[in-house]
Amino acid sequence: VDARNTGRPTEMYRATASDVTQHRLDILTAMGDALRRPAGHSEVVMVYQPQVDLATRRPVGVEALVRWTHPEWGPVPADELIAAIESSHIMHMLTSHVVHHVAGQLAAWNDIGVVTRASVNVSVNDLRDDGLLRALQTAVAATGIHPRQLMVEITEGALATDLSRITQAARAITDAGFALSLDDFGTGYASVQQLRRLPLSEIKIDRSFVSDFLSNRASQAIVHSVHGIGRTMGIVVVAEGIEDDATTQALSQLPGIIGQGWYLGEPMLPADFVEWWRKHVRD
Ligand code: C2E
Ligand code: MG
Ligand code: MG
Ligand code: MG
Repeated sequence: VDARNTGRPTEMYRATASDVTQHRLDILTAMGDALRRPAGHSEVVMVYQPQVDLATRRPVGVEALVRWTHPEWGPVPADELIAAIESSHIMHMLTSHVVHHVAGQLAAWNDIGVVTRASVNVSVNDLRDDGLLRALQTAVAATGIHPRQLMVEITEGALATDLSRITQAARAITDAGFALSLDDFGTGYASVQQLRRLPLSEIKIDRSFVSDFLSNRASQAIVHSVHGIGRTMGIVVVAEGIEDDATTQALSQLPGIIGQGWYLGEPMLPADFVEWWRKHVRD
């Protein structure tokens, strides 16, 4: 299965701009229905994309990404889904579903010695109350995984609003033993000051800087400086969206850097992922 392409929009989905609101409402309603029906849960699956230590080419973890296939519409792209549900209660339901699902997957992988850590994406509204923390703790208790095995990815955009509240929520999550990552870094307005206040263990450089890393000096400068800041602060730096060998080679010059992208490994269903993992941890 080419999980990367399972998010391609259908004809129906590229209707006129004036349909956008209705379209979002349709997604919202249908996702809510799917999550409320146990049978509907099979429409929602997680795929896992490897994260690789570029110096050794060994996998160090995975990012879990949601894939939703509506029975009539077909696959709904993840960012379209999230945009439609983000400011509603359905977002909390999906996040909770994802957290439980991924924790269960990690527990199964613990038993067979595959993967040690998975990242889950959360939305800014997941950080407004303690619902996320409770979901994480319930999932850990139910599956017996270690909190350190779960990393929570927040986007830099989350820092634009209500920073003290976000910082507080982030602290509660890391105090409970979970790891925190700042996703899509460079696309928002996070300051170095904010980086210092957040208990981050990882920063992900947005793929826009990675895709033209070889050809654009400004992107090179940005990647180098984020890498430098990360190293100085003891934060792991991940380069997202690596699509070719030349970029992989160039980035691997940066000490300690982790890479993620189609060239290194596509998002995969669990069965495919286990096969991939076994092939790549072997010498
Ligand atoms: P993200 O968290 O930044 O995830 C990385 C996206 O880049 C994923 O898109 C992934 O499939 C894609 N990608 C990976 N390697 C490459 C590459 O080499 N080139 C390119 N062009 N793209 C690459 P995806 O799965 O469509 O997800 C899009 C966004 O939707 C994610 O961006 C994330 O913000 C959100 N998302 C996905 N799953 C979830 C989820 O379970 N919960 C929440 N709240 N958001 C999610
Ligand atoms: Mg992410
Ligand atoms: Mg990202
Ligand atoms: Mg993103």
